[in-house]
Amino acid sequence: EVHVKDLHKKFGDVTVLNDINFTIKEGEFFTLLGPSGCGKSTTLNSIAGLESPTSGSITVGGVPFVDTAHKLYVPTEERNLGMVFQSYALWPHMTVEQNLVMPLAIRKVSKEEKASRIYEALDTVGLAHLKDRFPHQLSGGQQQRVALARALVYSPSVLLLDEPLSNLDAKLREQSRAWLKRLQVDLGITTVYVTHDQDEALSLSDRIAVMFEGKMAQIGTPAEIYEKPATAAVAAFVGSCN
Ligand code: ATP
Ligand code: MG
Repeated sequence: EVHVKDLHKKFGDVTVLNDINFTIKEGEFFTLLGPSGCGKSTTLNSIAGLESPTSGSITVGGVPFVDTAHKLYVPTEERNLGMVFQSYALWPHMTVEQNLVMPLAIRKVSKEEKASRIYEALDTVGLAHLKDRFPHQLSGGQQQRVALARALVYSPSVLLLDEPLSNLDAKLREQSRAWLKRLQVDLGITTVYVTHDQDEALSLSDRIAVMFEGKMAQIGTPAEIYEKPATAAVAAFVGSCN
């Protein structure tokens, strides 16, 4: 359902993505795992349409988003994706409710539908009662949930999450992990998750793609990655003992 083929990205002379290929199944929780600078965010941003690859193609739900060979590039606002960034990026001067209105504002949705979608999205993350608060009046975990609600408010086909838990303390991160997994399973939404935390990847994912220096090292289930690491580098990174 998400198809990334022969993806290359250069910034100037520097190659940061080198022949990235993967396919994500409908409803799958798919994680890009690797050390800082390996190209996880660049890959995710290419799917989101925030970064344009030097070459390659990306298809989501049968719709081509990028195909450099055919000079095809669908702008980000036409991709129907939900995205949460590392820093939540809530608008500080707007209430929770107003934060959720924004993504709907650029789409043609009636007033009634807007209201019901906002309620539903906030209800999904358990925060409908806080809709009139401003971000600074929320805890980090609550802000993270608002960011998720905002990503879900227009029923995206795919959810893109770039280290959404990294700003939380260890305890909250652990709780949010379980909660996030439940939500993903309940919604059945295809999720592309980015993290450099191997425990997080192993506990959340249906499959993991391990990246090093812009290259794909291995793709597999958490058990496969952990028990049969393809290279010594993968073994070292996920903490396998062979
Ligand atoms: P992290 O875990 O630190 O977020 P990452 O795996 O997400 O790392 P990317 O952000 O994808 O890594 O960056 C991959 C490489 O591309 C890095 O070496 C980075 O410095 C470089 N890079 C990213 N964006 C740009 C840019 N706009 N211009 C030049 N180089 C960039
Ligand atoms: Mg990153």
